[in-house]
Amino acid sequence: MKTIFQRIIDREIPAKIAHEDEHCIAIHDINPQAPVHVLFVPREPVANTDALADEQVELIGRVVLAARAYARRAGIAESGYRMVMNTNGDGGQTVFHLHLHLLGGRALHWPPG
Ligand code: 5GP
Repeated sequence: MKTIFQRIIDREIPAKIAHEDEHCIAIHDINPQAPVHVLFVPREPVANTDALADEQVELIGRVVLAARAYARRAGIAESGYRMVMNTNGDGGQTVFHLHLHLLGGRALHWPPG
């Protein structure tokens, strides 16, 4: 069964799109945890970092660079931001298509809890 992100990539369900390129799509999180909360999702489906094959490692670099560019455009590069990839249960992953959360626009606490 397709994940919700695959259905968004395939345009079966709508999402507020923040960025798109040949490698990834970025959408505004439906339940934002910060003023900027955008999800960077590789078009190539892989469940999470644990499932990532060696030959898929470029996907991580692509989403990081896309998120960095978005952070600069959104004006949060200097104030700061957080990039997060949740994996499996204890990591808090709920959608099993790898994605990077970009969070910013407010002070983020550490440890996150
Ligand atoms: P995870 O918990 O897997 O790291 O992150 C999944 C994220 O996807 C959550 O922050 C959740 O709010 C977001 N999300 C879940 N369903 C949808 C949806 O249909 N549209 C959008 N834009 N975000 C979603």
